[in-house]
Amino acid sequence: MAAVVPPPAGGGAPVLHWFRRALRLHDNPALVEAVRLTSAAPPAAAAGGGTGRHAGGGGGAAGGAPLACLYVLEPTSVEAPHTGAVRLRFLLETLAELDASLRSRGSALRVVRGDAVAAVTAAAARWGAATLVYEVDDSPGGRERDAAVAAAATAAGLAVVTAVGHTLYPPAQLLAVAGGTAPRTMGAFTALVGRVGEPPPPLPAVGDALPPPPPLANGEAAADYVVPRLEDLGWTAAAAAGLRVRGGEAAGLARMEAFLARRGGEAVRKFEKPKTSMVAWRTPDTTVLSPYLANGAVSVRTFYARLRDVERAGGGRHTHPPVSLVGQLLWREHFHLLAGTVPHFDRMVGNPLCRQIPWDDPTTDAAAAERHAAWAAARTGYPAVDAFMAQLRTEGWVHHLGRHMLACFLTRGDLWVSWTAGAATFEELLVDWDPALNAGNWLWLSASAFFNAYYRVYGPVTWVRKADPEGAFIRHYLPALARMPSKYIYEPWKAPLSVQVAAGCRVGDGLDYPAPIVDHAVVSKVNTDRMAKAFRSGPAAEKGGGKAPPAGAGGGGAAAGKKGGKSAAAGGRGKAAAKPGGPPAWATAGGGGGAASGGAGAKRDGERPATGDGGGAGGLRTRSGRVVKKR
Ligand code: FAD
Repeated sequence: MAAVVPPPAGGGAPVLHWFRRALRLHDNPALVEAVRLTSAAPPAAAAGGGTGRHAGGGGGAAGGAPLACLYVLEPTSVEAPHTGAVRLRFLLETLAELDASLRSRGSALRVVRGDAVAAVTAAAARWGAATLVYEVDDSPGGRERDAAVAAAATAAGLAVVTAVGHTLYPPAQLLAVAGGTAPRTMGAFTALVGRVGEPPPPLPAVGDALPPPPPLANGEAAADYVVPRLEDLGWTAAAAAGLRVRGGEAAGLARMEAFLARRGGEAVRKFEKPKTSMVAWRTPDTTVLSPYLANGAVSVRTFYARLRDVERAGGGRHTHPPVSLVGQLLWREHFHLLAGTVPHFDRMVGNPLCRQIPWDDPTTDAAAAERHAAWAAARTGYPAVDAFMAQLRTEGWVHHLGRHMLACFLTRGDLWVSWTAGAATFEELLVDWDPALNAGNWLWLSASAFFNAYYRVYGPVTWVRKADPEGAFIRHYLPALARMPSKYIYEPWKAPLSVQVAAGCRVGDGLDYPAPIVDHAVVSKVNTDRMAKAFRSGPAAEKGGGKAPPAGAGGGGAAAGKKGGKSAAAGGRGKAAAKPGGPPAWATAGGGGGAASGGAGAKRDGERPATGDGGGAGGLRTRSGRVVKKR
C-alpha cells in the first residue's frame, strides 16, 4: 500500500499534472493550467515554491502548492506488438529532454510504468495531490481511458481539470459550429473551419521557474522515477539504431524552423504535397515533423502559426489546402475530429463510416496471415513495396505516398488483407504513430471510407519507377538488389539467371530475394471486381463516403491506369465535390480548390494512382502457386 504524504500545511495540496501527448513546455494548455492552479492555492513556506517565481504562460500569480509532474508508461507504449523499439526510443528521448527542461526550472518529471488508472491514482495518493490536471486524449481508446481515470480520481476525492492540446481547435468548438456532428468529407470540414476562423494562437512557454515537486513519500527514492533506457524496458539499442530524427522539443522546434527557412520560406509557400518526392530519402521533401507532432514535442498550433507567418511573408503568394502545409494540418485536424466522435473509428466492426468489405482476416485465416507476414517483413517480392517497408522497419518513417503504396498493396490492390491488420503493423513500426491519423488514412487507402475510386490501384512495378527510374531508393533499402541492372530493378524475377548471378541476387523462395508473392496483373483485377461487388451490395457505409461508382467501374482498373487514372466518371465526381460550402478564412486569395474527399475522383493530396500493371482476369495466385478462385 502506498505511503501518503499529507499536503504541506497551509500551502495547498499538490497539483498533479499527468503529461499525456503534450511533452513540451511551449503551448501546453494543460501544463499552464496546472501551474496556474498551484498559484491559486494560498502560498505557504512549506511548499517552498517562492513567491512570484513560477509564472507560467497564462499563469503568473504567486504560487504556494507543489506541482507533481507525472508520465505513465502504459503497457501499450512499451510492449510489442503495440510498439516497436524505434518509436519507444523517440519517446524516451522526448521524455528525457522534458525532464531536463523541467529540472532546469526547479521541477522534475516522475516516470512510472503501469496501467494509467492505477498509476495516476496511486501517485495522487502518495503525494497527497488534491487536483489532477491532464490533456484530453480524443484518440480511439483514449476517451475510455480518460473516463476511467477521471472516474477513479473523482472517487478518490480529487478535482479533475482537463485541457485540449493536441489539435488546432478544441473539438467542442468545431462541433458547436457544425451543429453537433463532425463533417464527413474534407470539403465540408474545410468549409466548417472557414466559418470558425483561425485557430487560437499558441500559448507562450511556461516560465523559467516552476513550482517544485512534492516531497517523495516514505520508502520512495528519486531513482524510482527516472526516465528509463530502452534496455531497462527489455529492448536493445541496436533494434532502434535506424531512427534518423532525435526526440525532444528542442530538436522538433529546430527542425520546424529549419524547414520554414528552407529556400527563404519558398519551401513552405510552394509546398504541394503531390509534388514532393516519395523516394527522397537522404533529405526528405516533406517536413518530417510528424514524429514531433504525434508525440507532442511540437505543438500543432505553434507549427500552424509559424506556417501562416511564412505564408504572409510571401505577400499572399502561396499554395492552399488541401495540398499546402496548412492543408496537411487540416487533414490531421479532420481525422482527429472524426476519431473523437465516430464510434470505433479504428475498427471495422461498429464503425458507421467503414464500408464492410469482406477482407481476409489474418487472425482467422492462415493464408492471409502468411501474406500479411510477408508484407510486414518486406518479403513480397515487389521491390517498390519491400523498399518502403524496409524503410519503415528501420527508420519508423515513410513518405506519405510510400504509405499509400504499402496500404494499397496489402488491401484492395494485391493481398486482400484487412486494413486493420495493416494499421496494427503501422502502429508498431511508425515513429509518428497517431491513432486518429493512422485509422483515418487506412480507412481511406483501403477505400473503406472517404475514397471511392477503388479501381485506381498503385502499380507495384510502374508507379514508383516513374519517380525513380534507376531504383536508387530500392538499392539503398534492399541491399540484396543493389547490383541489379536498372532494367530489372522493379521486376527482378524477370532477369535471366545469368544476370541474377552476376548481380549477386538470385530470385526465388529461399534465395537472395523472394519471387513475387502474387501476380499483380491477375490479383489487382480480381480484387477490383471484389471491391465493385462490395460497393454494390455490401452494407453501405454512413453517408459521406460518396456514391458507389457505376457497376461497370469494377474491373476498369487497367483502363484507368492507361489514362493515368483519369477515368471520366471519377474525375466528374471529384470536381463536383471540390466546392465546399464557403471559402475558408485563410484561403480567400488564390482559391484552395480541390479539397474534395467525398467524390470518387477526390484529389486528396493530389496523388494519382494508376493501374499500369493491370492484367487480365483470373484467380489469385499465391507464391506457392496456389490459385484462389475469383469470388
Ligand atoms: P508533411 O507533408 O510535412 O505534413 C505536415 C504534417 O501534416 C504531418 O506531420 C502530419 O501531422 C500532417 N499530415 C500530413 N499528411 C497527413 C494525412 N494524410 N493525414 C493526416 N495528417 C497529415 N501520419 C501520422 O502522423 N501518424 C500516423 O499514424 C499516420 N499513419 C498513416 C497511415 C497511412 C496508411 C497513410 C497513407 C498515412 C498515414 N499518415 C500518418 C499520414 C502521413 O503519411 C504522415 O503524416 C506524413 O507522411 C508525415 O510526414 P511529414 O511530417 O513529413 O508530413
